[in-house]
Amino acid sequence: MFTITNHLLTPARQFPLRHGSQAVTPRYIVLHYDAGATLAGSLNHLRNSNLSYHMLIDRDGSSTQCVPFNRKAWHAGRSNYRDISEDVNAHAIGISMANRGAVNKYGDRYWLEYEVGQRIGDPLTADQVVRGYHPNGGSERYWERFPNTQVAACREICRSLIEIYPTIVDVVGHDEIAIGRKVDPGPAFPMASLYDLVPDRGWKERHLYRVNTPGETLNVRRGPGSDTDINGVLQHGQLVYGRSFAYQNGTATKWLSISLDERHVQNGFVHADHLEKV
Ligand SMILES: [Zn+2]
Repeated sequence: MFTITNHLLTPARQFPLRHGSQAVTPRYIVLHYDAGATLAGSLNHLRNSNLSYHMLIDRDGSSTQCVPFNRKAWHAGRSNYRDISEDVNAHAIGISMANRGAVNKYGDRYWLEYEVGQRIGDPLTADQVVRGYHPNGGSERYWERFPNTQVAACREICRSLIEIYPTIVDVVGHDEIAIGRKVDPGPAFPMASLYDLVPDRGWKERHLYRVNTPGETLNVRRGPGSDTDINGVLQHGQLVYGRSFAYQNGTATKWLSISLDERHVQNGFVHADHLEKV
């Protein structure tokens, strides 16, 4: 369906944006949404910003490439994942999907609002939204549904990238590497449907921690803070996989998102003062 030649995807429209001059070796694919009502509007916004994605995928599955895959793009901002303590952009391919993100309900219509009352584009109907909680916390909201054709195109592009760039070990959401700063692609995107493309999800890199609470247990929290619900309990000496430190007011905290097994799905948060790196 897709081919990649000289770090460019076919078929795809080309829309060049800012990128780095040095070659990068991609280790991760980072997925986003563009928080816009139309892809054309987002491209226009990107042209006038310092941000860039390698690819954007429209709601109908058509794709636009902005940066060659072996060049750095500016999509993740302040971010960290496993052994990358900042600047995930230097190690990642960024793909953004046309999607409004969270929308607000008025009557039987659902609107994207950048500020309350400032409605952007056309509203959605009930069959175009899903209701759900974001795994990083917050109240229940409505989110624009990702059409099947768009998810299928994203999957095929990821599959092609992993084939061409065997250094890619995982596919993650922006909201998994910039926790507390970003919520895209959010709960409406079926991340788990891509995990069979990266069967070991980089687990060989491990990034393990041991719980260090002699004589005591350690609470796992639903969100990055001791004021959030308790999700589970860990024993002294137990091993966990470290994923990403959450941000608060733009600064990295010691609240670490963890996974308890090699599926590497986020199981909650623990405070790193109670962990030691293995
Ligand atoms: Zn993003």
